[in-house]
Amino acid sequence: MDVHTSLTAAVGNTPLVRLNRVTAGLGTPVYAKLEYAGPGGSVKDRAALSMVEAAEEAGLLRPGGTIVEGTSGNTGVGLAMVAAQRGYRCVFTLPDKTSAEKIAVLRAYGAEVVVCPSGLPREDPRHVFNAAKRIAADTPGAWHSNQYDNPANPAAHFRTTGPEIWRQTDGRVTHLVAGVGTGGTVTGTGEYLKQASGGRVTVVGADPEASVYSGGDGRPYFVESIGLVRHAETVENPWPESYRPAVVDRFERIGDRESLHTARRLAREEGLLAGGSAGTAVAAALRVAAGLGPEDLVVVVVPDSGRNYLSKVHDDGWLRRWGFLDGDGTHPVVGDARSVPPVPGLRASDTVKQALATLDEPAPGRPAEADHPVLVSAAGARADGVMTASEVLGSVTARGLRTALDSGAARSDDPVRSLLAPPPPAFGVGEPAAQALAALEEKAADIAVVVLDGRVHALVRRAALAAAVRGARAGQAAGDAVPRQPEGRPGGVPAQDAHGG
Ligand code: PMP
Repeated sequence: MDVHTSLTAAVGNTPLVRLNRVTAGLGTPVYAKLEYAGPGGSVKDRAALSMVEAAEEAGLLRPGGTIVEGTSGNTGVGLAMVAAQRGYRCVFTLPDKTSAEKIAVLRAYGAEVVVCPSGLPREDPRHVFNAAKRIAADTPGAWHSNQYDNPANPAAHFRTTGPEIWRQTDGRVTHLVAGVGTGGTVTGTGEYLKQASGGRVTVVGADPEASVYSGGDGRPYFVESIGLVRHAETVENPWPESYRPAVVDRFERIGDRESLHTARRLAREEGLLAGGSAGTAVAAALRVAAGLGPEDLVVVVVPDSGRNYLSKVHDDGWLRRWGFLDGDGTHPVVGDARSVPPVPGLRASDTVKQALATLDEPAPGRPAEADHPVLVSAAGARADGVMTASEVLGSVTARGLRTALDSGAARSDDPVRSLLAPPPPAFGVGEPAAQALAALEEKAADIAVVVLDGRVHALVRRAALAAAVRGARAGQAAGDAVPRQPEGRPGGVPAQDAHGG
């Protein structure tokens, strides 16, 4: 019989499949290692099984014990699968931005899920990692698998993923491209392939462009499970020990828009339904292949399935809300309305005095109105003046701050964090202008944030949205087409830096 004696015996040995359409025009073959084909549906099956077996061997995990992990999902699935088979209890801590599908899957395996707030500094006791550590310490018979610093994580890939790729390509692989989350995949697979090839294989890390690993400032981004973010109030941001940076020969840095659209292209052009991190990895692999010849062979790791992200990466509404999809030209969109650049943001820890001093300073492009909302985040204005839309904590106005001081409601050394109003409603550049206008009218709000590529791009007034809607209606009445802006370049605001594909 050609059978497996247990589910965990079916972990690994995933197919390596040539990409044939997204690679059009490239002379170098690119093969995708389809990790979603495993029984738990992701690359983390390998690490989970390896960590549990190492813990059993070391006596850290005994019959009836509890596995505790801080995980954004896939490691949890792998651990929960092994735990269900072997009778362990599972408790997972995850950030509240984790997709609903991932949480539902963990619960389906019988795991307990503790949802922690996201956007916290690493030292905060409520941070996913600290919460997992505490639960493990407080639970008799518990073992914290700690994928970030567990040597059994990269070892799983050295033992399985690397040898599989070497065998499947008959030793012809020249380039490995993989995202770096805990670093287990790139470290174990990369070290094996370098060893097997006598150093001939080049290892390329596929990193979100904001990730600390490849030199970004650590601001939040939209692709899940890879890269390293750094919260503005984090004091120490240790890198995982599962990642040995020396293995990576170079990075390709990929913006959210390119990652998300590449994931969509994989589904639509290759029939390969994968997650956002696969989009990052394949986008990087295509760049790598573009610089190579026919004798080279690129392998890219596809970590999980797009089924984990049907309400995110693969949902048009979600993409449009965060400014990753432009209008289709059939109706006016938010990006068609006249807008003004946002005031560079304030830091939540700034005092009222500091905030007013900043706001009183004249700056080019900044609206002088005292009622103009100024967005506040933990990091404040980044070096490039751009704020990720998801990091906005709230807003203040110069007039509001002065009124609070004058009335005695606030002191000049209070942090603005204590005086925040909710942020203005936010709309993606490609959302219908009429819909945004109706939402503002319903909320009796006058101003909205315009989001492009997940970033705060501009502010738009209700009157400007109304004019955009009216302009379209007038044009339609006269039988004219609505004037369109070029793709991704909303009207009335300066073009942002190009984001690639
Ligand atoms: N992509 C997805 C979807 C993942 O779940 C993970 C694991 N965090 C990775 C990529 C990165 O893998 P690794 O932790 O081995 O670096």
